[in-house]
Amino acid sequence: MSEVTIAPIPDLGARSDEITIFAGPCSVESVEQFEEVAECVAGLGLKWIRGGAFKPRTNPHSFQGLGEEALKIMQDAGRKYNLLTLTEVMDSAHCELVHSYVDGLQVGARNFQNFSLLKKIGQVTAESHKMVLYKRGFAGTIAEWLAATDYLTAEGNENVVLCERGIRTFETATRFTLDIAAIPVIHKQSLYPVCIDVSHPAGQRDLVPSLAYAAVAAGADSLMIEVHPNPPAALSDGPQQLTPTQFEKLVGELREIAAVF
Ligand code: PEP
Ligand code: MN
Repeated sequence: MSEVTIAPIPDLGARSDEITIFAGPCSVESVEQFEEVAECVAGLGLKWIRGGAFKPRTNPHSFQGLGEEALKIMQDAGRKYNLLTLTEVMDSAHCELVHSYVDGLQVGARNFQNFSLLKKIGQVTAESHKMVLYKRGFAGTIAEWLAATDYLTAEGNENVVLCERGIRTFETATRFTLDIAAIPVIHKQSLYPVCIDVSHPAGQRDLVPSLAYAAVAAGADSLMIEVHPNPPAALSDGPQQLTPTQFEKLVGELREIAAVF
């Protein structure tokens, strides 16, 4: 039987100044780009770095990600900077490949109801118990979300984090409407930790800090924040990504808020 590596279960819990943040660029673009963010994240004492390898783009002509090359870049940077790595799995056919490179697997909003993908991720992580970060769909209710989580956990991996990333409403001033109430509702109805992705609902970097303050104050167990060394040159989601300097300032502020709540 092959040896099974058990990934450490993340220490989630916003009610201390140790907040868990899944920070990193929207897309992994190069070794240099990813390592610059990794150095910043590790320097702040954070444990995780995120990055997109297979990018779920609405427009098929947009950048689609570096695929396996990105996974290798993530794995190397994770080892070099002692960080855990998180990336999205887009396709059931990629589950084993992605699982072999990273510490956490993400289900994106566009795959919220891709039940065969959820089932496959549950199977692939059944022995490793690697973390699965399951994002809410644009139009998914909390009841649907909690029900579908059972596809992920059916094979025994309960290491699931539920990630609110904004839903579609009539409002167009932000990219999506962040449902802050999802935090206490999920805490009331389940034992899963909640992550709030503050970058995708904001869509603009100047809104990111306010959403992050609110999420920590409302009891989020973790946050997702996109960070890029040079956001105007980013191949995806440039307008919402923070620079390392902006991110560092925000982390300091969030640690202060987390210590109060
Ligand atoms: C992402 O986190 O890289 C992403 C594409 O987010 P979402 O699935 O929430 O759109
Ligand atoms: Mn993005």
